[in-house]
Amino acid sequence: MNKDYSEHVSALFSWYDANRRDLPWRSDRDPYKSWISEVMLQQTRVSTVIPYFNRFVQTYPDIPTLAVANPDSVYKSWEGLGYYSRARNLIAGSRYIVENHGGVFPRRKNEILCIPGIGPYIAAAILSMAFGDPEPSVDGNLIRVISRLHALSGPADSGVTRKHITSLAREMISDKRPGDFNEAMMDVGATICTPKSPSCETCPFQSLCLAARDGNWERYPGPKKSSSVPSVSLTICAVILDGRVLIRKRPETGLLAGLYEFFSFPGHLSEAEALRAVFSSITLSNKTTALVEALPKAQHRFSHLIWDMQGYRVVLEKNRTGAPVCFSLSDADAETGCFHTPVDARKLAFPTALRVYTEAVLGLKHDVKE
Ligand code: SF4
Repeated sequence: MNKDYSEHVSALFSWYDANRRDLPWRSDRDPYKSWISEVMLQQTRVSTVIPYFNRFVQTYPDIPTLAVANPDSVYKSWEGLGYYSRARNLIAGSRYIVENHGGVFPRRKNEILCIPGIGPYIAAAILSMAFGDPEPSVDGNLIRVISRLHALSGPADSGVTRKHITSLAREMISDKRPGDFNEAMMDVGATICTPKSPSCETCPFQSLCLAARDGNWERYPGPKKSSSVPSVSLTICAVILDGRVLIRKRPETGLLAGLYEFFSFPGHLSEAEALRAVFSSITLSNKTTALVEALPKAQHRFSHLIWDMQGYRVVLEKNRTGAPVCFSLSDADAETGCFHTPVDARKLAFPTALRVYTEAVLGLKHDVKE
């Protein structure tokens, strides 16, 4: 630890020892649990993660168990957390550890960074918390707190800022309690030095913080470089035949890979256009009519993309003779598309992006908010 920051660190630990949050992944220093918790905590609130974490480590208590798990079951246990690529990477990572390290989490930084889905932030969290290495976990919280401590106005998302903050955090981190240092800084960033309303009066750094001294915390860090996220319009069609819902599986690579969804079409389609699109995807054995009902509009923001959605429930009706309706799907959907009863469909893993539609059509309830 750099001598210059001993006062900061001792103030931080005095506060942390009295106020630390009692979180399930802090009960022991198992690298597997640190890994799972850090992956779940990315872009997701602590209160949301706690029940998911408890269920996950109960179902998949160790790396070998996760490595042989059915991916669909893992995705189902992830449902509601969003960002499914994280679950996919956990499976890939556990398989990698089994193949390359006999199922035991590796100890060295260069080995940890080779695990699929693990970047510098998670590697530092695991190294400090599970193995006691003085590696700072540099995320948005840490960047905000250190920027304010030192009145640094560089943009939070610039590489130069990150490098500078990392080097300051390296000087600051405690050699004796590196895991506690990272967790304490996370707690300060999440609960006290928040982006819009920091509580400087309760902050352990109050007397040491340049931003607090000048009363201008809002200037630090500087605004992010603007980045516009493209928006894609989609029409979601929940097609229903004999009480069963048409669902397909997304491709195994790319956005929301391997998850289930209703049929959807590009653009915001009128009822007539949506119906034409549905009938171009499904060939029915005999003439069928359809009832179309509008579903709510919804938006979902991914890190790089926004889905701007509208939807319809399309109920196909039997022909006048009452003869059963047989169907076939277009080539693109023939392999993965299938009509499911709502009970069966509720067992499939749908992306959070479709929450509005899975709730409206399948009655699928999400017990948490992102
Ligand atoms: S004193 Fe205020 S601005 Fe400074 S680190 Fe603490 S909460 Fe943030």
